[in-house]
Amino acid sequence: MLVWRPGTTAHRRSQGAALTEPLSAFHLVIGIDLGTTSCAVSVWDGSKIVIIPGIVASTVGQNQAGQVVVGQPVAESAVAGVKRELGGDKPIRFRGRTYHPREICAFLLIELKRQAEAFLGVPVHDAVITVSAAAGEPQRRALREAAGLAQLNVRRLLDDPVAAAVAWGADERVRTYAIYDLGGGTFDTSIVRIGPDAIEVLGTAGDLHLGGDDFDELIVEYALRQIRLRHHVDLGQDERIRQRIRREAEIRKRELATAESTTLELPQLTATVSTSIPLTRRAFEAMIEPDVQRSLDHVTAALAAAEAVHGVGRGEVEQVLLAGGSTRVPWIRDRLAGYFGLAPGDIRADLDPDELNVRGAGLIAQEYDPAPLFEGSPGLLSANLRLRAEMADPAADPVVPVPPASAGSGLPRPPAETPADFRPVAELTHSLLAGSPAGEHAALRTAYTAFVAAILAAAPDASLAELGSALAAEYDRR
Ligand code: ADP
Ligand code: MG
Repeated sequence: MLVWRPGTTAHRRSQGAALTEPLSAFHLVIGIDLGTTSCAVSVWDGSKIVIIPGIVASTVGQNQAGQVVVGQPVAESAVAGVKRELGGDKPIRFRGRTYHPREICAFLLIELKRQAEAFLGVPVHDAVITVSAAAGEPQRRALREAAGLAQLNVRRLLDDPVAAAVAWGADERVRTYAIYDLGGGTFDTSIVRIGPDAIEVLGTAGDLHLGGDDFDELIVEYALRQIRLRHHVDLGQDERIRQRIRREAEIRKRELATAESTTLELPQLTATVSTSIPLTRRAFEAMIEPDVQRSLDHVTAALAAAEAVHGVGRGEVEQVLLAGGSTRVPWIRDRLAGYFGLAPGDIRADLDPDELNVRGAGLIAQEYDPAPLFEGSPGLLSANLRLRAEMADPAADPVVPVPPASAGSGLPRPPAETPADFRPVAELTHSLLAGSPAGEHAALRTAYTAFVAAILAAAPDASLAELGSALAAEYDRR
């Protein structure tokens, strides 16, 4: 299937070719990479692709005032990875009501559009949005509907691997590549032919439920088993505790990309359980082996399609292009080299795997003319206004307020995300401080303020636990 024949100079520009036309300002069709873990927006600035600062986590949560906030680190109420749910009708419970997955997705798109408009200083109505190649018609339709709710004209839904191929650009001659895109929640792979005049997708496969989130979950299960062995308790039923371990697992997993071993630090999981769990790279690799094998099976399926239709086999693949954050796992690169019989240097990660797809989306976006207005039905405007009314005003966003240390009554209550172990002492401290003059209990006030600020800023668990312990000690000292 021919997926792209460059109609403009964008493709040559992406390869650094000299510019022949005068440059103007930004092109007002944006590229959106809508990932299950993170989103990004790009725009053609007249000579190159610019990635709009402020990568957004694909999370929709609420602040203390109950307003919808997008892109903040996952809080208890946040709905993460909604892209996976798109296309289904399973309602999502959130803020005490139910939402259709496309509405949650619309919150994300509204925020991305807002950021683009803030960056560009003008309204934006048009976008090219990436979608997993494994997504079926229902997901694609839902994504278009979500874009409509966000008042965006979808100029094209771009398959993730095509976006990566476009961003990669071409050599002088046609080459055959395998694209391997392993993100947080989804896996995409395609066999592509990239040439100076066209990009052709020869075969595609993928999985809407395979990614780094699964790796995190495997580490969580491992940690829970270790805790059972050592402490004879099963903490697996407590979602808050799981969430804490998951956050730590994700951080340590990243460390294993460069370190041979690491340790999960899990202080004060409960009043009696504090633990450190060593994890070697080798053990991590053994855990994820079945998932990695599953991804290679999809590569085999994509190759089979390429072989059947185009007669292109495994031996013709010259290089592998990596996209998605999870391809930072060195062992995955080794496995790919082994699978294709390629040298490690042919497993290419020289373009930032986080940026490849959004760059491709921006390059394709540049080929469409911006519309003067949103082209959807007028009814969508009221739906859009309704959703926007539920969202926090970004200018007055109270998500990360640092509470004033001196105010007595203005002291914030312990936030919903306060770890269960520290909740009692946080509550007690709050009621004590709220009832005493601002000048009293200075040290306790400082400890409480720091603890609450860290929770609101979603500080790593280790520092949160440290601050929580300091607070408890300060409370006892009083
Ligand atoms: P998506 O496209 O699904 O939003 P991304 O491409 O942003 O996903 O990748 C996010 C995933 O990459 C997360 O699961 C994250 O933990 C993982 N990741 C990021 N850096 C590393 C690393 N150094 N080692 C292992 N996994 C990583
Ligand atoms: Mg992605």
